Amino acid sequence: MNAKIGKTTRIAGLDLAVAWDESEQRHVYLDGADLVFTGNEIVHVGPGYAGPADTTIDGKGFMAMPGLVNVHSHPFSEPANKGLTEEFGSDKLGQSSLYEYLPVFGLNPEDAGPSTQVAMSELLKSGVTTISDLSVSREGWLDDLARTGIRAVVCPMMRQGVWYTKNGHAVEYRWDEKAGDVAFGTAMKTIDAAAKHPSGRLSGMVTPAQIDTCKEGFFKEAHQEARKRDIPMQTHACQAVVEFYEMVHRHGKTPIEWLDSIGVLGPDLIIGHGIFLSDHPQIHYPHAHDFEMLRDSGAAVAHCPTVFARRGMALNTIGRYMDAGIPVGIGTDTFPHNMVDEMRLACYLARVVTGNYKMGMTRHAFEAATIGGARLLRRPDLGRLMAGAKADFSLVDLSHPYMQPAHEPVRSLIYSASERAIRHVYVDGVQVVRDSKVLTIDVEAVTAGLIEGQRKRLETVSQRDWAGRTVDELAPPVYTTHNRLPQSRPVD
Ligand SMILES: [Zn+2]
Repeated sequence: MNAKIGKTTRIAGLDLAVAWDESEQRHVYLDGADLVFTGNEIVHVGPGYAGPADTTIDGKGFMAMPGLVNVHSHPFSEPANKGLTEEFGSDKLGQSSLYEYLPVFGLNPEDAGPSTQVAMSELLKSGVTTISDLSVSREGWLDDLARTGIRAVVCPMMRQGVWYTKNGHAVEYRWDEKAGDVAFGTAMKTIDAAAKHPSGRLSGMVTPAQIDTCKEGFFKEAHQEARKRDIPMQTHACQAVVEFYEMVHRHGKTPIEWLDSIGVLGPDLIIGHGIFLSDHPQIHYPHAHDFEMLRDSGAAVAHCPTVFARRGMALNTIGRYMDAGIPVGIGTDTFPHNMVDEMRLACYLARVVTGNYKMGMTRHAFEAATIGGARLLRRPDLGRLMAGAKADFSLVDLSHPYMQPAHEPVRSLIYSASERAIRHVYVDGVQVVRDSKVLTIDVEAVTAGLIEGQRKRLETVSQRDWAGRTVDELAPPVYTTHNRLPQSRPVD
């Protein structure tokens, strides 16, 4: 065994640890445990560590839990959609926000830095230690991520076509295969640079952006590149009613059938978001067997409940998929970047969609957010607390009022306390959140950058919208603003 490099830290006498039982392949609660790590690696989880330690921290009152693994997010743009996309979609395009809203809001590329840092600060505070960042390649991206202290899988999105609408009821595609090739080349360079990044915390994923913006050859080539590097591939598919019927229209096949027909539906593929299968209630297309095909393929699903719930859509369901053996991870996709909230919503939505509370149990969501995500990313050293795993974990304050009574602490965390009870977070053996404050990011400064970025972008919304609408016409405010109430009289 190699000598571990680095100092040894012992978190002694934790009230609880959510530890990984390797023989049973499941999380268990461990009472009165010590959590010990040397450098970036956990060396001991259990009672009575007797070895040497450079630093000992009192674990009394805390529960250690594995760092959460986020398999799908867009931090370069989503934070700037706050106040705009929470409750709007296109009435005539399956209620999606993809075609009319995201292209006109978004952010200018030069403002992606602050936006990403804001997202990372929220993620770290919610106990996320690994992020999959689906962004368009940009200068400085890798360093931006590394600086935050998070572990990151860069997923440079590349595509050959761009969708648009000229009337709000038909989606068209502007194809530019040359631009696709350029993006492909840049993406591969970015992925290779991530693997060599001096932080040691970055890796890459091949990401043909969407099923309907990339053609067969592009997908096949992307798949080959992923295999060559032994890394997964992710694409957006089954994410909109419009997309489902676009694929039927183009190929006479459902999105799942088409991915299968071109040979990429398999264990190398992660589908974000895998919602609109042929048997989804909002599709009801009884002429295919997408669920069974997906189940038998080994392909995985990145489940992001919030962004779809906003427009009345939900996966059918996390429990059904996982119980059938489909690998599922959880992502935030949109703002707020809070994985605990996503876990809670994943459970509740599954229960509402089916009228069956067993279709979204806490264990489904917690597993998807930890070992499930780690499996998707091919990282058996993440998402679990055990010797040999990376020292990526959170310390949950069991005494926090919102945790009390902490009779069943994972439930108290997910259903009541959320990120408020996450006090300390470590990534790669380094503390990145202390007393719920992010140590690696100047949150005030990057938030100011994000606000300015949103302000600049909103100035030109009308120029991008097909109907020339203003921001308030596209996303009417909840209340109109006045400087006085009609019934108020001047004060004498
Ligand atoms: Zn996405």
